[in-house]
Amino acid sequence: MNKVSYENLIEIIRNYNPEETEVVKRAYEYADNLHKGQFRQSGEPYIFHPLNVAYILAELHADRDTVCAGLLHDTLEDTAITKEDIAHDFNRNIANLVDGVTKLSKMNFSSKQDQNYANTRKIITGITEDVRIIIIKLADRLHNMRTLGFKSEFKQKENALETMELFVPLAYYIGTYRIKSELEDLSLRYLKPSMYKKIEEIKSKIEEDSHDCLMEMLGTIEDLLINRNIPSEIKVRAKNIYGIYKRLNEGYKLSDIHDLLALKIMVDEVENCYRTLGIIHSEYHPVNDKFKDYICNPKTNMYQSLHTTVFGLDDRLVQTQIRTFEMDRIASFGLTAYWDAEKGRARDVMQQDLKNKFQFFRSLTEINSMFGDNQQFVNQVKCELFSDKVYVYTTKGDIIELPKGSTPIDFAYKISTDIGNTMIGVFVNDKYVPVDYILQNKDRVKIITGALQFGSRDGWEEKAHTSYAKRKIRELQVDY
Ligand code: MN
Repeated sequence: MNKVSYENLIEIIRNYNPEETEVVKRAYEYADNLHKGQFRQSGEPYIFHPLNVAYILAELHADRDTVCAGLLHDTLEDTAITKEDIAHDFNRNIANLVDGVTKLSKMNFSSKQDQNYANTRKIITGITEDVRIIIIKLADRLHNMRTLGFKSEFKQKENALETMELFVPLAYYIGTYRIKSELEDLSLRYLKPSMYKKIEEIKSKIEEDSHDCLMEMLGTIEDLLINRNIPSEIKVRAKNIYGIYKRLNEGYKLSDIHDLLALKIMVDEVENCYRTLGIIHSEYHPVNDKFKDYICNPKTNMYQSLHTTVFGLDDRLVQTQIRTFEMDRIASFGLTAYWDAEKGRARDVMQQDLKNKFQFFRSLTEINSMFGDNQQFVNQVKCELFSDKVYVYTTKGDIIELPKGSTPIDFAYKISTDIGNTMIGVFVNDKYVPVDYILQNKDRVKIITGALQFGSRDGWEEKAHTSYAKRKIRELQVDY
């Protein structure tokens, strides 16, 4: 929805958080007053922007403070008000959130570039203080991207590129798939307009062609599940334009992209996911090497699902994704799913989850403590966290995510400092390989350790790719 009114916002708040409509009203009037006389490039009153940001947050069922901060998010930057004013007129939490999304003042920097790096760092590290800061930033960026048509072509490309480099990875890490895929498509539309159009056309043609087949399968599977008393809901899920673009770029032909359209089957509990898989496989022939169990092996952003590609009607290959309703909520909303599930406790649960379950969080904290210089910090995050990744297996079958270019040394230190420090060799896929072997997707990695043999680590620092492993190797040499 592109045209959102104040009434729309209040209505959605009333639906999921009726006790808070009064304070949201007050925040709206407060921001409206402060932005009076300011206009966007589209010619609309400025308040239109914070209103939309708050609406995007309310669609995620954000808590009261987050929605209010969404309404107030540009007041510190663009109006005369201070953080203390917001703390006094609302509360300390809202003031902190607004401050978290506010750019650092020009006054403190010698150049525009320095200021940019400092701001990028502030956005990225916001996640370590309060992940809601990033979520507000994402909503802010999403609305700016939706209304990018009013900017100059140069600005459009610049913003689209920054969105791809910074905001899409952040959206990926916190798991908000919906925001991520919309940001990707909007960026591609401005970066490669003709390509975007072409894929859009092909996609709608394929959707038309496969409509009957998918509906037929959907009906058949629905009946089978009803017969076995498995509560379920089935939807057709379409890959986003950018997802298709990425595959084509990797050298796939359009006819090889089998998950362009998929059947998403949601059931009540985990056991029924596997029963459903059995039911589907006994009705449709599976393509053997296309089966993935992300329930046992969740993706590193907590995504869980069973994927299986089967021969559907007319031998059309169709991917089915089987998961519980709960898993589907996480798949669409990531960490923000906690707003619904945990209500008032959501913020703390999100922060705890980040610390305990998200591999990238530890790396980010590590890079943050290692690099004082903002430019170095930003570059390191881009090459280590926001770049392409490889996924490899431990001997136990756990999946470890590493930046592309990582070696078994990085793997060992990612498992634990002890394993890194006592590593003397490595097997990859049962073959002995040198420690600077470049890891590939799906490699099975077995580190050989010699409990007391701290062998020579000469040159290991260069053979490692991640900052964490490099630092650990340096520390070891000091001790030695
Ligand atoms: Mn804004």
